[in-house]
Parts: sequence; C-alpha cells; structure tokens
Amino acid sequence: MTSSRSKPGAKIERPAPLLHAHSHDYSRLLKRWRAVAPTVGLAVEVFAKADGHPLLHLYSKKSPPDAPSVYFSAGIHGDEPASTEALLTWVERNSEIARRLKLRIFPCLNPWGLIHNKRSNADGLDLNRCYHHSSMPIVAKHRRLVLQSPYDLALILHEDYDALGAYLYETSPAKPHWGEQIIAAMSPHLPPDSRRRIDTSRAKDGIIRRKITSETMLEWPEAFLLHFHGATRVFTIETASEFHIDSRVEAHVAAIDAAIALLID
Ligand SMILES: [Zn+2]
Repeated sequence: MTSSRSKPGAKIERPAPLLHAHSHDYSRLLKRWRAVAPTVGLAVEVFAKADGHPLLHLYSKKSPPDAPSVYFSAGIHGDEPASTEALLTWVERNSEIARRLKLRIFPCLNPWGLIHNKRSNADGLDLNRCYHHSSMPIVAKHRRLVLQSPYDLALILHEDYDALGAYLYETSPAKPHWGEQIIAAMSPHLPPDSRRRIDTSRAKDGIIRRKITSETMLEWPEAFLLHFHGATRVFTIETASEFHIDSRVEAHVAAIDAAIALLID
C-alpha cells in the first residue's frame, strides 16, 4: 500500500504568492486611492458614510476640453472583491491615459460588504436594487453625483458565483457593439462564460444584450440609472467568483483597457 502523505522532511511545494492579496482590506484600498489620485489629477471627496465607513468619490479636476467622459464604479456587492481591486489597479497602471479622460469614479459603494464578504450592506439590503428611488440617503447622494455630467462610457464592475467565466451586459444601442472585443480582451485571463442563459437573460459567448425599458426591472440596478441618464455606452462586466483572484482582477483590468482603447481610438 502506498501513502499519499509527504515523508517527514520532504520539500513542500508552496503556492505562488497572490499578486492581488488583501482585496477585502478597505482601509488599504482607501490609502491606495488617496496615493494614486494626485498622479492622475483626481480630486477625492468623501460623499457619504455607509455603515460607519467613508464612501469615496473621485473626479478629474481638470481634463482636456474634448476629453471623453467616463464613469467607473465597483464594489456595490461586497463579495465581489476583484471589482474594487481591478478598478484601482487599472488607474495605478494607467495614470497617463487616465489624465486624458474626464473621470468620475466610485471605487467601492459597499465597504461594509467588502470587509465582511457580503453582497448586501449591514442592513441586509442589496444596494444594486435601490436605484429606482431616492429614499435611501446613500443612494440619493450617489444618484445626485451620477446625474451631474453626461458620460460617453460607463463601466460597472461585478462578480458572480454562478458564472463559468467572463460575461457582460451591453445595454446601450450604440453601434458598432464593443462587447465581443471586451470579452476577447478578458479571455487570456478568464474564458467567456458559455451559458446560453444567464439569470433571466439570453446570452451568447458571454454577452447579454437586452433592451432596457422602465418595465425591464422594477427595482433598478445602478446600471439602469446610467442607462436612463443617457450614457452613450453602459457595460456591466462580470467575472466568475470561483476562479483565482489574480485571474479575475486581470480580466477586469483587461476589460477596462479594451473599452478605453475603443473609446479613445
Ligand atoms: Zn454584483
């Protein structure tokens, strides 16, 4: 009989260290955002407190007059840490490109959830179903800031435990569509999700395109607010939670790279 147990003294192979460790550490995330902001010409403000934690809003102080306007948000679901980590990583790696854009960034909309690895906030609410009304003070403040400017592009970053790879929602009618190129850019890190049905929508090669009307969902996700506000292109980007954190982060970074390249080309 053989034993699979290592012999005493045998060398144990250790896994490679994580490139994107500490993804649930909110204070570390804030420190990194505050450090990178001046290098990109971003103003930083605390626009609200959520469950005792500051919510950051960053925006370009001065950008070229014809700069494309871009909206970014992440971390509305706290158990989706590749979203918050990737957004920050992209800005850290792309300060020069970021300076050429007119940016509005919400780096983490649910810090309590991020710290506790929960989808909801501390009251058990899914914030991403609260954008059809303004009765929640945090959502009301967020909505006011969102509506202050038009956007050529909105990228909203998420993850999904049921996903088999990378997928996205492309809900704006702008053509040519960009979804295929964004999914292709993500594919060295995560395969496209092969499901033909994702939640209640039909999907093909990781892309969900659906027409949004006021009846599509009565409880609006954040993306609907951007859509009804008239953002030219709105993408919700999703990575599969059960893949390695580094692959998920790099897939999101690649998605942002691809979308920004298409925008400024
Ligand atoms: Zn989510």
